[in-house]
Amino acid sequence: MTIAELAALLGIPCPEELRVLKPSGFSIDSRTVRPGDLFFAIHGKRFDAHAFVPEVLARGACAAVIHRDLPELGEQAATRCLRVTDTLRAMQDLAQALLRQWGRPIVGITGSMGKTTAKDLTELALAPFGRIYASVGNLNNEYGLPLAVFNMLSDGRRMDDYDLAILEMGMNEKGEIARLCEIAPPDVSVVLNVAPVHIENFPDGLEGIAAAKAEIVHGLKPEGTAILNADDPRVARMAAIVLGRRQDHAGAQVMYFGRCEAAHVTALDVEPRGLLGTTFTLSTLKGTAVVEFPLAGEHHVSNALAAAAVATHFGVSPEAIARQLKQARPGPHRGVVRHYPGGVTVVDDTYNSNPAALVEAVRLLGQVPDATRRIVIAGEMRELGGHAVEMHLACGVAIAQSGVDILLGVAGHARDLVEAARAENARRDGRLVTAFVETAADAGDWLVKQAQAGDVILIKGSRGVRLETCLEALPV
Ligand code: ATP
Ligand code: MG
Repeated sequence: MTIAELAALLGIPCPEELRVLKPSGFSIDSRTVRPGDLFFAIHGKRFDAHAFVPEVLARGACAAVIHRDLPELGEQAATRCLRVTDTLRAMQDLAQALLRQWGRPIVGITGSMGKTTAKDLTELALAPFGRIYASVGNLNNEYGLPLAVFNMLSDGRRMDDYDLAILEMGMNEKGEIARLCEIAPPDVSVVLNVAPVHIENFPDGLEGIAAAKAEIVHGLKPEGTAILNADDPRVARMAAIVLGRRQDHAGAQVMYFGRCEAAHVTALDVEPRGLLGTTFTLSTLKGTAVVEFPLAGEHHVSNALAAAAVATHFGVSPEAIARQLKQARPGPHRGVVRHYPGGVTVVDDTYNSNPAALVEAVRLLGQVPDATRRIVIAGEMRELGGHAVEMHLACGVAIAQSGVDILLGVAGHARDLVEAARAENARRDGRLVTAFVETAADAGDWLVKQAQAGDVILIKGSRGVRLETCLEALPV
């Protein structure tokens, strides 16, 4: 698409010199901008990228979108700028206009946990339907979602190369998902779960988080379908939003996925196979098929069912879904099983943590049949605000009750977690050994000294603790 066409979609004038240029990509980050990219100079909370426009143009960006004068730009460079009122808004408006022009189905996915995983699984499950676009990586916010849309026409791709788009929609605060749905109104909205993630931003706790997630159901197209987790009561309740509009829009539908009987798409005969994943019978209204699902941890079955529900909605058969889901692989640091020399096995779940996800991950450890010792390295869980102490204590108790052999807490409030685990272990007269260190580097040293053949070690902490770095200490 030429810059003239993009400018026309935004309703802004296009400098003559730029008219025929075709951006090869789109960027908001001066550090990673590539020659040929169209650069949006965003004025964010911490930086104003207008300062980097001269550098970005010098590095070969084809043009920059700006919203204030840049006298430091020479006259010639100034002709390579598109002037808008607000660069972030322009990016969002452009994404919205592109999707509207494209006009094909959009699947929006939200939830406190598992969005990226479910998005990737949905891409797999939907493959038999047609040419699927799924947002790359974790691009899920007010900046990321437009970039995810632009990626459909980067590097020589055309939006018409795709029959359907799956977009991850995240939020830190209420109102954000509503905005994302204005940009990309979903034909299908998926809500995975509601858990205490970013709870510090929600004075009314989980109910507030649920209301913010429900924005993706409010944001559905009028005849859209909500795909909801029947096992999570706060999510299941969102059906009322759709049912309320059925009088005027007969096409509006609800589809439930989950393990409970009410679900339209469910898993029967669930057989956890430890680190090898889970085998289950996928049951949909179109029949059943056995899925050998390779992601470790039953919580991922929930994500798989969400993906299967979307695929079922678009007419993919259970057999085809089963074939596709068999090929699933965990995303980076999201439950990746690593085998180290000397017989040490690590479950690298260091991408992030929260109380609900930690308990699920520990449950997986309990399902590994042949571990000599089960070890949890639990980093601090952040963004819990006033709930931090109470939630770390509760997780500590849960870990002590889970049959784990060794627990290492890392950083900050993980000390509370360790203390609670120690107290619960003493109360039960258990065999749990506990320790605490302040940094990921210390955790690495601990790991090198402690790890033995036969150990299965789960490592999980908030992004900010960067527990993946402790793995660097292990010899490969
Ligand atoms: P983000 O908010 O950072 O975008 P996300 O919602 O995209 O996160 P993923 O990246 O898919 O989530 O998964 C992150 C971690 O959440 C996983 O490593 C896993 O520990 C946990 N997780 C994923 N799905 C579930 C689930 N259904 N239940 C519990 N924990 C889950
Ligand atoms: Mg994500």
